[in-house]
Amino acid sequence: MRDTLPLLEAIPFPALRRGRLDTLQVNVGYRCNQSCVHCHVNAGPNRTEEMTGAVADLVIDVLARRGIATLDITGGAPELNPHFRRMVRGARALGVKVMDRCNLTILSEPGQDDLAEFLAAERVEIVASMPCYLADNVERQRGKGVFDGSIRGLKHLNALGYGRDPALVLNLVYNPQGPSLPPAQGPLEADYKRILGETHGIVFNRLFVLANMPIQRFGSMLVSKGEFDGYLRLLQDAHLDANLDGVMCRNLISIDWRGYVYDCDFNQMLDLPLARGANERVHLSDLLDAGLADNPVRVAGHCYGCTAGQGSSCGGALKEAAE
Ligand code: SF4
Ligand code: SF4
Repeated sequence: MRDTLPLLEAIPFPALRRGRLDTLQVNVGYRCNQSCVHCHVNAGPNRTEEMTGAVADLVIDVLARRGIATLDITGGAPELNPHFRRMVRGARALGVKVMDRCNLTILSEPGQDDLAEFLAAERVEIVASMPCYLADNVERQRGKGVFDGSIRGLKHLNALGYGRDPALVLNLVYNPQGPSLPPAQGPLEADYKRILGETHGIVFNRLFVLANMPIQRFGSMLVSKGEFDGYLRLLQDAHLDANLDGVMCRNLISIDWRGYVYDCDFNQMLDLPLARGANERVHLSDLLDAGLADNPVRVAGHCYGCTAGQGSSCGGALKEAAE
């Protein structure tokens, strides 16, 4: 795979500083039942990196000690980590909102038969990738059989009350198929609701529209096809300073499976660790007694993926999020 970091580090981006920490985004490992083309963490069935029980306990300790409101659990397929359910229960017992970045097909994997019921019982918010409402487009990006599996998963979640009961939030995520900016979030959400509703009887809360990041598998593919510079130019030309205030690294930190801290999931995948003073690699254990407010963010060319057009974050378009 082609490394895009040297190319990205050569591109200047406006300086950013961290604000108040309200979300811990935790990557519990890279094992996944899928291997999607655009996957920015290069996850797949053969990855073995996995968060240990000791680090999972540390996550709960930091949530409690620092009064953090939201735990956002990602992977791979985070539910495959053996400590996933314990971490969810621990966070919910503290009154923390928990989000699960769920790929939907995991709900019908062997050994996960009661997963949807567990998530509903713990009132976990589900954020699920659904790159299109058409089977062909989904399968080109995420693999054969993924569309039907995803529809099955959504129906199962709806049957439990997800997308209908205000306490059971189900949000979907869209990202473009190739090196283009995502369309406007509001109209696309309306199309998704109409077509998934009419065709499959599916309901959901919000559609988050995200830009593809020029890193990992997708970035490498751009380099191989000679499309990297063009895509970066597209992102830079669409940059809006107004989006700088809403980028997720201001209020979120990303934790890797070993417990090391990054400004966001993308920096984690680029191995650009959050640095604090002379400490070039901060560990979650360093945050039990110290905050990160005003710490500089490690920025590079990929950050234009967050500030182009309507903006992009793990909660969708920044413009919509602010409205
Ligand atoms: S389901 Fe998600 S984590 Fe798994 S390979 Fe696809 S994009 Fe990556
Ligand atoms: S990629 Fe986005 S979230 Fe990450 S550091 Fe850059 S601007 Fe912040």
